[in-house]
Amino acid sequence: MFDNQLIEKFKTLETPFYYYDLALLHRTLAKVKELAEKYRFHVHYALKANSNDKILKIISSYGLGADCVSGNEVLKALATGFQADHVVFAGVGKSDKEILTALEKDIFCFNCESLQEIQVINELAEKSNKIASIAIRINPNVEANTHQYITTGKEENKFGVNMAELNEILEVLKNSTFIKLVGIHFHIGSQIQDLENFKNLCFRVNEIQEWFTAQNIRLTEINVGGGLGINYHQPDLENIADFDSYFSIFNQYLKVKPSQRIHFELGRSIVAQCGSLISKVLYVKKGTNKQFAILDAGMNVLIRPALYQAYHKIENITSTSSERATYDVVGPICESADFFGKEVSLPITQRGDLIAIRSAGAYGEVMMSDYNLKEQAKSVLLAM
Ligand SMILES: *Cc1c(COP(=O)(O)O)cnc(C)c1O
Repeated sequence: MFDNQLIEKFKTLETPFYYYDLALLHRTLAKVKELAEKYRFHVHYALKANSNDKILKIISSYGLGADCVSGNEVLKALATGFQADHVVFAGVGKSDKEILTALEKDIFCFNCESLQEIQVINELAEKSNKIASIAIRINPNVEANTHQYITTGKEENKFGVNMAELNEILEVLKNSTFIKLVGIHFHIGSQIQDLENFKNLCFRVNEIQEWFTAQNIRLTEINVGGGLGINYHQPDLENIADFDSYFSIFNQYLKVKPSQRIHFELGRSIVAQCGSLISKVLYVKKGTNKQFAILDAGMNVLIRPALYQAYHKIENITSTSSERATYDVVGPICESADFFGKEVSLPITQRGDLIAIRSAGAYGEVMMSDYNLKEQAKSVLLAM
C-alpha cells in the first residue's frame, strides 16, 4: 500500500498522523454506488465512523445519504454536501435541541428508539409546526456474532424497541398527529463478517413486515442498518469489502412490496480500509521476557484496541532489516490498556522507525481525545 515515494513523504511529516488513501476511498464508493443503482437501494453513510470534512465531501459527491447520531452530525452532513432529504437520525438519547435542529432542517427520517422519544418528537414537531417522519427501530433479536460492545440487535440492550412493545407504540402513534410513521429500522451490530447473520436479519424483517401488514399499516421505508465487516487481518488482500455478496443477500432474501424502499447505513465498510495511522517509534524497551516498541501515538489517537480488543495489522514501513523479532507495540499513555498489538512480529525495529497501523479509517480519528494532553494526530490526506 505504501510505495517508496509515499514513505519518503511520510518521513518529512510530523507524527502521529492519519493517512487516507483517497483513491481507494473513490474505488470503494464507486462500487457501492454501482450496486446501489443496480438494486435500487438507498445507502446512507454513517458519519460516526469518520467525520473528517474532506472525506465527507467525497462521500456526499457519490450521492449517498447520511446516517447521523447527533444534531451536530446532522449539521455537519448538511455542511459537507449531503441532502437533508437523505438524512436519517438515530440514537437512543436525542436531546430536545438536537430534535429541534433536525426538524428545522427537514431531515428525511428520525429512527426512533423508544416510546418516550416518540412522545417528545411529537411535542417538539407540534411546536415547530412540522410533521416528523419516523421509523421505529426494532430489535430483531438476531445474533451478530461480533464483539459484545458492538452487538446491538438483541432484546436486552439499550437500543431500539422490542416487538412486545409495538402495540403500545401504535396506540401512542394514533394520538401523535405531528408524526408520520413511514418505516422500520434495524441495526444488529458492527464488524459482522459472517453474512449468514444478515440473511437471518432478512428473515426476521419479513416476519415483522407481516405483522405490520396484519395491523393494516403500510410502511414505505425499510432500513436494515449497517454493520458489514472488513478484513482487518489482510487489508491488502481485501481492501474493498464484499459489497457484492452483502447487497445480493438483501436483494435475494428481503421480501419487499413494490412501493417500498430499502435503506442501508454503512460506516466502517466504506472508510476503514482507506485509513492508516502512521506513528514513530520513540523507544524500544527491553523487559525481562519481552520487548516493547513504544510509539508516539497511543489510545488517545486510536482507541479501538483498548476499547474492543480490536485487531489492527501493524507494519514497520521503514525498517530495512531482514531479521524479525517480536514486540508488544504500545502507546505512551499512562494506562495498561494502551497498546496496539501484543507479540507482533516485525522486522528489527529501532527508534525513529515509522509504524503503520492499518485499517484505521473507521472509528479512529473520530474517537481521538485529549487524554494526557498528548499530541493528537493531524490528518493528512494524500490521493494516490
Ligand atoms: C454505528 C451505526 C451504523 C454503522 O455501523 P457500521 O458497522 O460502521 O457499518 C449504522 N446504523 C446505526 C444505527 C449505527 O449506530
